[in-house]
Amino acid sequence: MEAFYEITDDVKRDVLHATDLVALIGGATTLKKAGNAWKGLCPFHGEKSPSFHVHPAKGFYYCFGCGAKGDAITFVRETERLEFPEAVAYLARLAGITLPMRQRGGTRVDRSKETRVTEALAAAARFFREQLTRHEPGRAFLTKRGVALDEAGTLGFGVAPDAWDALKAGLSDTFTEEVLVEAGLLQKNPDTGRVYDRFRNRLTIEIRDPRGEILGFGARAFGDEQPKYLNSPETPRFSKGKLLFGLDRAREAIRKTGEVILVEGYFDQIAFARAGLENAVASMGTSLTSAQAGLLFRQAETVLVAYDGDRPGRAAAEKAFAILLEQGARLRHLVLPDGDDPDSFLASNGVSALREAVAAAPPFLTSLIATLPDSAADPADRAARVKEIADILRAAADPVLRHELIQAFSRATGVPPRLLSGGAAPRANLDEPSKEPARISETEEVVLSVLLNEWPASAPLVDRIPAEIFSHPAAREVFTALKEYDKGLPTLDFSTLGSHVGVGAEALLARLLVLSPPDDDISTGAGPDFHQGQKGRLEGLRNKLLRLKKRHLEEKSRELQHEMERAQVSGAPITEIMVITEQLSRQKSALASEIQRLNRESKTVTKVRE
Ligand SMILES: [Zn+2]
Repeated sequence: MEAFYEITDDVKRDVLHATDLVALIGGATTLKKAGNAWKGLCPFHGEKSPSFHVHPAKGFYYCFGCGAKGDAITFVRETERLEFPEAVAYLARLAGITLPMRQRGGTRVDRSKETRVTEALAAAARFFREQLTRHEPGRAFLTKRGVALDEAGTLGFGVAPDAWDALKAGLSDTFTEEVLVEAGLLQKNPDTGRVYDRFRNRLTIEIRDPRGEILGFGARAFGDEQPKYLNSPETPRFSKGKLLFGLDRAREAIRKTGEVILVEGYFDQIAFARAGLENAVASMGTSLTSAQAGLLFRQAETVLVAYDGDRPGRAAAEKAFAILLEQGARLRHLVLPDGDDPDSFLASNGVSALREAVAAAPPFLTSLIATLPDSAADPADRAARVKEIADILRAAADPVLRHELIQAFSRATGVPPRLLSGGAAPRANLDEPSKEPARISETEEVVLSVLLNEWPASAPLVDRIPAEIFSHPAAREVFTALKEYDKGLPTLDFSTLGSHVGVGAEALLARLLVLSPPDDDISTGAGPDFHQGQKGRLEGLRNKLLRLKKRHLEEKSRELQHEMERAQVSGAPITEIMVITEQLSRQKSALASEIQRLNRESKTVTKVRE
């Protein structure tokens, strides 16, 4: 029978409250503290300067570049491609909350299949680690690579025994065959229907998401058996082209150094980590994808490419440069001696040699120029190589960067830039911001922003202001949602507020919550100044509110004027027209005197404030 999560508003709120939004989003992009928010490069569109904001206190994110916005659930839905209930379940799992489940028909069950798959992967990891402790060849294999048994666990190593059903037997008490197949741990022979272990007689390596949850396994043969590497099958969550091996352990070091080292294989990543260079990640054997390049530049400004020193390794590095240049600008290249990979280089030259090589690694262009054959030798060879390098440089998405690279390369080779630019059509600008919604007046924006950001101190004021003074429909919608917001809740959260407004108003809401109110001294700290600043800002609103009110009345007055004019040309009996005109002009003069009163009031406010 099909089971489903029972997600009530309370459950949703609990999960959102238990979620560390900065840590969650920090897995996809590096965030830096800015006032009471966090800023970073947007994980949803390519950009070079950060316009992506995260507001942990209010529980939402917003991008000024592409307009991406939402709460933790939206974020997980979009980055993990999960449906709403699965996204809530994902967050619940991270927070250690068990979600209530129900089967169609009403019986409660405890867990969903998706959760069971994740649990099965974690159980398999424990099983493989356990096998390693008593697997002599496995331990010898790791020792030979300098990995001590006590660090093997942290690095995610294990052993799949040489048997068709070792894991199957080990886990079948706890998990159904269906879940184990779904997790990619067992596989089914389509002809015989036999179900057996996917990984056999191999060293296993846990592949985790940036937050450390196990998504699948890589498995290496102990000898030369083919295939040398075998992975978990591809699923929407376990997609090698979108993952970087080691990122969960490397994140902190990447943030500290501002650089990420890109390597090809698991053992290279581990070699760097063992040399104390913990900011390395691996693209896992396949050639680098745009998704991975984007992920790299969201973690750090500079990428150091450290591929194998042989010909294929160099060729792969040059392919990676082109892909990386579509997403970022700063690249360095660690060139290892021919025949060495980072792992073997560390083994034969030691830690300090690897660290020195990393420190001395030149910018990628310098490294490319060094490969040019001597012009005195074969001119045809040199010309071919010049063209190859120009092709790489032209991959830069940023036109200014592309120009600068071509210029620098031209100076180095003496080949005029116009021969190097190749007449390639400029790429579409990825940073093009999305269309702005219809213009909203600055006064309305400031008023709403202060009311939102000074919550709950602004609540009494919100009660007194009529919604009609906002003329922009989205502004009015946000304000109405604020008016209806539960005054008993101590903090405003985006999720609750956002669920009461339409899409356009939700975008405005996100933008205003991100924008600090003017004269922002609130982030300087708590204490007496904090309340002083807050009081000042709310008082500073009076004049703006009066202005909005006045504008609203003036608009109404203009409408009345039109109505009178329409009545006069309507062809109605003259007495009727006189009555209507009389009524309308009375209303109009009432408005006029109220406007005058507002004018006087606003002068007093200004004087008092001066
Ligand atoms: Zn964006």
